[in-house]
Amino acid sequence: MIVGHLGLALGARAVDRDAPLPWLVAAAVAPDVLDLGLAAGGVCNVGGEYTHSLAAIAITALVLGTAGGWATRSGKTGLLVAALVVSHLLADYVTGIKALWIGGPMVGLDLYRWPWADFLIEAPIVVAAWWAARRRGDRPRWVASRFVLVALLAGQLAADVAMLGGDTENRSVCAKADLVDQAQKLF
Ligand SMILES: [Zn+2]
Repeated sequence: MIVGHLGLALGARAVDRDAPLPWLVAAAVAPDVLDLGLAAGGVCNVGGEYTHSLAAIAITALVLGTAGGWATRSGKTGLLVAALVVSHLLADYVTGIKALWIGGPMVGLDLYRWPWADFLIEAPIVVAAWWAARRRGDRPRWVASRFVLVALLAGQLAADVAMLGGDTENRSVCAKADLVDQAQKLF
């Protein structure tokens, strides 16, 4: 899942109105931020084995949940932050495929194979969350502005169109890591 994660963060406000949005957003996208960091470092992370496996999600949820609860002095917010990290993995099982553990089997519906189906799932989540935030009169007010909705949907559309080209599992990073590996064996 891509932009849908932001929708889940926005929707989580329904549970805890005082939860600061930055913490909710950080929790909702944390595993993908870790993905980007590993990809930038040239680490081959097949099926998100280092970021989206059961153990990795449990650790991320524990660390971020504890930090969020401590920073906001609210156990409720801490639990919500941890739950959002877990929701990230569940949502990714719908749209992608993820390794259960390092080197383990892959699980997921992999809707990314049909980017239009991915858009049809993610767009309603974003619209519903935005609509709910608008009705609640969420602060900050810009969250419920039409511009934010259009930007989110445009971002999702762009990501789905990009996926028609298809490198959803960082195969290019893994291929490069493989080359370095083989070169090192040669010398
Ligand atoms: Zn993810």
